[in-house]
Order: sequence, then C-alpha cells, then structure tokens
Amino acid sequence: MTLTLPEEAARRRTFAIIAHPDAGKTTLTEHILLAGGAIRAAGAVRARGENRRTRSDWMKIEKERGISVSASVMTFEHDGKMFNLLDTPGHEDFSEDTYRTLTAADCAIMVLDAAKGIEPQTLKLFEVCRLRDIPIITFINKLDREAQDPMTLLDDIASRLQLDPAPIWWPAESGNRLRGMVEVGTGRFQPYTRKAAGSAEDPEHPAALPLDQAAQYFEAGEQDNLAEAVELVEGGYPAFDRQAFLEGHMTPVLWGSALRHFGIDELLKAIGDWAPAPKVMKARKESPPETRNAPAPVETVVEPGADEVTGFVFKVQANMDPNHRDRIAMFRMASGAFKRGMKLKVQNTGKSLSVNAPIMFFASDRELADDAFAGDVIGIPNHGVLRVGDSLSESGVVRFAGLPNFAPEILQRVRVKDPLKAKHLKKALEGLAEEGVTQLFRPEIGSDFIVGAVGQLQFEVMADRLGEEYGLDVLFEPSPYAEARWVNGSDADIEDFSGKYRPQMARDIDQAPVFLAKSSWETGYVGERFPKVAFTKTKERG
Ligand code: GDP
Repeated sequence: MTLTLPEEAARRRTFAIIAHPDAGKTTLTEHILLAGGAIRAAGAVRARGENRRTRSDWMKIEKERGISVSASVMTFEHDGKMFNLLDTPGHEDFSEDTYRTLTAADCAIMVLDAAKGIEPQTLKLFEVCRLRDIPIITFINKLDREAQDPMTLLDDIASRLQLDPAPIWWPAESGNRLRGMVEVGTGRFQPYTRKAAGSAEDPEHPAALPLDQAAQYFEAGEQDNLAEAVELVEGGYPAFDRQAFLEGHMTPVLWGSALRHFGIDELLKAIGDWAPAPKVMKARKESPPETRNAPAPVETVVEPGADEVTGFVFKVQANMDPNHRDRIAMFRMASGAFKRGMKLKVQNTGKSLSVNAPIMFFASDRELADDAFAGDVIGIPNHGVLRVGDSLSESGVVRFAGLPNFAPEILQRVRVKDPLKAKHLKKALEGLAEEGVTQLFRPEIGSDFIVGAVGQLQFEVMADRLGEEYGLDVLFEPSPYAEARWVNGSDADIEDFSGKYRPQMARDIDQAPVFLAKSSWETGYVGERFPKVAFTKTKERG
C-alpha cells in the first residue's frame, strides 16, 4: 500500500533520550531497539556504553568516527510507525552537539535513575527541551534496584521542573521486592520476573492481567496495599492529557528497568501513540544573500506533508578517513519526499548539490537511502559545503532559523607550537568551529584565537584532532576570559559599545559581535551600564 506524503510524515516519531550519565541511556537505547525489532540481541549498543567509561576509550571511539556516525540516529519501523532515535552524546563533559541534536527531535525521553531522581545534567537538558517546546516522556529506570518512594520522585518532577507528572503505570515496590506495575486507570497488572540465580538469560515477563486476578505474584497483604496505593494515585494525580503533554505542561511517567527489559514495550507504545509527528515549522522564504533583485523575505510555514523537500543540518560529522576532508552533514527533513539523486540548494550560499549517496541509518547497518520523509534524518556526504545550521531545499529559498549556539563555559587561548603554521591553524580552527565541535572567537585587537567549549574534554579532543587531521601541534592556555556573550542591539549602539570595550570585543565565526568578560560580575556590571545593548547566552544560527 502506498501512503500519501502527509500519511508518511504523520507516522514518523523522531525522538531523543536525555539523561544524566549512568542513568541508563545506552541500555535503554538498546532495549528500545530490541523491543522495536531493530536488533536481535542485547550487546550491540551496550559495547559503546561500556567503552565510553574511560576518557581514553571514549577518544578512541571518537576517532573511529564510523561508530559515532552510524549511531547518530537509528531508524526502525515498528507497528506501522517509523521511529528515528537520535543519539545525544551523553559523556560527562558534553558538548553543544547534545543541545543541537535536540533541535532535530520532536520529543524527548527523560530517563531518571529511580534511586537518584533528577540530577544536574537532567536539569540542563530539560531546560533545552523547554526552550524548544519539546514534549517529554519520563521513564524512571532501574526499578530492579532499591528506588526512592515513587511519590517523592513525582513531586520532584512537579516542583523542580514545573511539569505535571501523569503516572501511566504505578510500580509495585522496587529492588528485591519488585512485583511488577499497575496501569493507572485500568488496573491492569504487569508482573515482573526476576532472573533465576545462576541463569545467564533474563526471563520474559508474564502477560499482563487484571490486578485482582494476580494473587500468585504477591505475598500476603501486598496485593491489597497496592490496590489502595493505586486508588490514591488515581485520585491524587491528574489523568494524562495529550494536549497538555504536547504543550509541554505535562509529562506521562512510565517505569521499568532497561537492563531487565521491563517496561520497555510500554514505553515504545507510549512513544508511538503520544509523541508528536513532525510539526509544522516556521520558516522564511528568503533568497540567498547577494541575489540580484531578490524579493523581500517573507515569513512562512512549512507543512510536513508539503511536496517540496526542505530541512536543516543539525550536525556535521567528520568522516572516518582523516586523509579526506569528507564530512557527513546530518540533515533533518521538515517536509517533502526525498529521492536519491535529488538536487538540493543551500539557502545561505545559493550552492546546489546533488545528493547521490545519502545515508540512512538503520539500526543494524548503514544503508543507502532511497526515500525519506519529514522527520527523517539523512546523512549527506560533502566536502565542507554544508555547515551546522544550513537550510536546504529544492527551491533554495527556504530558511529555518533557530539552531542555537550556546555561550561556552570555558574559554582558552590556542597557540600552535610552530609559528610558521599560524595560517594553517586558522583554517583548522574554522573547520572545527563549522562542524560545531567548538566555538571560535577572534578578538578585534591582536592575533590570538580564543576557543570556547562547554566542557574541558572538548579541548582534549580538539587538540587530538588538530594533531591527527591537520598535523598541528597545539597548546591550549588559560585565557583572561570567563564568559562570552553575544551583543545585540542596533548597529549604532553596538558600534558605540564596541568602541568603549574594544580590547574585550571579538567576532565569532559568523562575524557576530561578542563581548568577552573576565567574570560574570563584569558581564552584569557592563550590561547595566549599557542598557541599549543586550547580552545573550545563545545565538540563533541559520
Ligand atoms: P548511560 O551513561 O546513561 O548511557 O548509562 P548506561 O546505559 O551505560 O548504564 C549505566 C550503568 O547502569 C550500567 O552499568 C548499566 O548496566 C546499568 N543499568 C542501566 N539500566 C539499568 C537497570 O534498569 N537496572 C540496573 N540494575 N542497572 C542498570
């Protein structure tokens, strides 16, 4: 049966998993792929998770770029829906990549460790989702271990995230006493079976049945206590309201154990039933710069089921072979039916490229894509033509805004040991900044380069890559700056401001003006003295 374009778009679910390190993101990814029939055995994804434990191993993996490329998105078809699971790199020192990946997701699964609840990185990632109005499904993991009281966990979601939790299931205890979980509202009980001592295989969990017929799974008194608890829960928490979820006010809460494959089918069903299909996106119709007699830009919207192929690049990944400057641009489609060999144009450069060898990322393997629709992500190999934030379309005039740059948290000065290679360094730094790995600031006075990153590890990876890929031996040194802020305002006000603070002014890779502050106190102080310019921590690209 052939589906229409709007039908193809409507059956896509493009989502990402957000979690604090160790909450179980990798394990859950793997078990979602198992539940979706995309992989047959556990272990395929976990190897990555475990390798990542140590810094050096993680770097090795980064070098074997093939792995991270093929894992950037995993696509599988299940129950009539197409799922695109985007990988958000989750190491402790995470980068802007993580944030940007979320710009390509329509929904996020927030994984909490049942013993730890909300952790610092859960909060950071949550804020990005909120900024971008991405609805969130909560999965509380590791029920097979001793957990916090479920109500405490839900209260924490309500008070710290200002999200109404709607429990879809309710756990029957945790750790050694975990019996299963009850579906709120229907009273269906899903029993949990523990692995027998000495057995290598996890058992299948028995089929769900009404709680009042499930006596065999409980010890004396437990079943009644559970029924009472569920009654309290039904009275005490709001029922799930899909509209409130889509608007970002409510999160459905599911429970389970990724490691024990418990609660995973339920989670996948929730994603299929409730996560939004690709949205109508705001855009502008705008001719590439320097077009003669270009019409004035107009605001427009892109319907996912529209005929024209449009989308944006949210990530650029260097290819496996360091001798070639091949890059793979991760292109998230916003509309249309993509066919291999199609010509697409880059809005901001006017360049045209034939996409003859697009890559689609099926979970088990990389395959050449023949067709793709709104919500899908395809990898487009190119030689540096495509940058993060670029909009591509058939007409070449559709422009999506809103891929943010985030103010880096660490700013360092970079020097190349061989001064003859200074020119070379500039090119290399620009290349990495274009990929979105790190940010590059060029002070208006002097010849230094200031590199900004979200975490320390990024500098190490960068030094490594500058050596491997560009043959440059570099040194990172502390810089006098603590913060970088984009300066916004009228041209005259920015000029006025820059005149007063010239030694601390810089330009980013797009030539946007940036103020480099020595402390957050200085940012506040200078900001107050110059109310006509506004400092921002993010900059929309594109
Ligand atoms: P990530 O850092 O969020 O990707 O977390 P991982 O998936 O690598 O998991 C971190 C650790 O928690 C690993 O040792 C996993 O085996 C373990 N883990 C993940 N899920 C569960 C679970 O449901 N129960 C238990 N007991 N351990 C889990």
